[in-house]
Amino acid sequence: MEFKESILIKLVVMLQCLTLVLCASQDFLTMMCGTYIIEVWPGSYCDTQQSCCYPTSGKPDADFGIHGLWPNYNDGSYPSNCDSSNPFQQSQVSNLISTMQKEWPTLACPSGNGIQFWSHEWDKHGTCSESLLNQHDYFEAALNLKQKANLLQALTSAGINPDGGFYSLSSIKNAISDSIGFTPFIECNSDSSGNSQLYQVYLCVDTNASSFIDCPVFPHGKCASNIEFSSF
Ligand code: AMP
Ligand code: AMP
Repeated sequence: MEFKESILIKLVVMLQCLTLVLCASQDFLTMMCGTYIIEVWPGSYCDTQQSCCYPTSGKPDADFGIHGLWPNYNDGSYPSNCDSSNPFQQSQVSNLISTMQKEWPTLACPSGNGIQFWSHEWDKHGTCSESLLNQHDYFEAALNLKQKANLLQALTSAGINPDGGFYSLSSIKNAISDSIGFTPFIECNSDSSGNSQLYQVYLCVDTNASSFIDCPVFPHGKCASNIEFSSF
């Protein structure tokens, strides 16, 4: 019995070492050890001192929007711009464009149709997992994940509404983990009066971006213990 246990412990340690070695290696085939899906609350993108511009298709829904799917290393750093020979091509995602306009709207100024934002996300982050997800699969995976995790519903059904009110960071985290089953990372920014507010939600997904997992590492950053959920 003890013998079996010690073999098991050795195996676990060996596996952990292997993961570390693979993740630390720049040559690791997929160049990543985990992936974040990041969703942005448009109200908090827009009410800062910098403000925002609605896309040419009009004001987005009052819902979280996708920001991107970002492969990252387990030490918290991440690869970027991994393949300049594989730029974003609209033709690869033509069947997804109308859904992307709704679920992945650009808010950058000047107003655009989204192509610039999606190109940026593909070029900077998507190319770093291109061996697992081609352009079409990358965007489709993000859209599917957003559908799986209905963040706004998770929050509103816990009484947390985008009404400019303040809510405890822990109540926000709990509402999302209760609904999705995994703890999110919450990124805050400041509105034009300097209030800490709910800006982006990070959830971790497995390397092929099909299901949520516990985050191997959380990003750094600090929110106040009570944060604003701005209206949009
Ligand atoms: P990244 O370069 O992918 O790390 O993302 C950071 C950039 O994305 C910043 O310049 C943000 O202002 C921008 N960003 C975040 N959300 C949006 C959005 N909804 N529309 C356009 N740009 C955005
Ligand atoms: P702290 O209040 O920073 O000591 O964090 C308490 C716990 O909440 C720790 O487990 C942190 O990892 C976690 N935590 C802190 N800030 C955030 C955040 N913005 N989103 C998700 N978890 C957080």
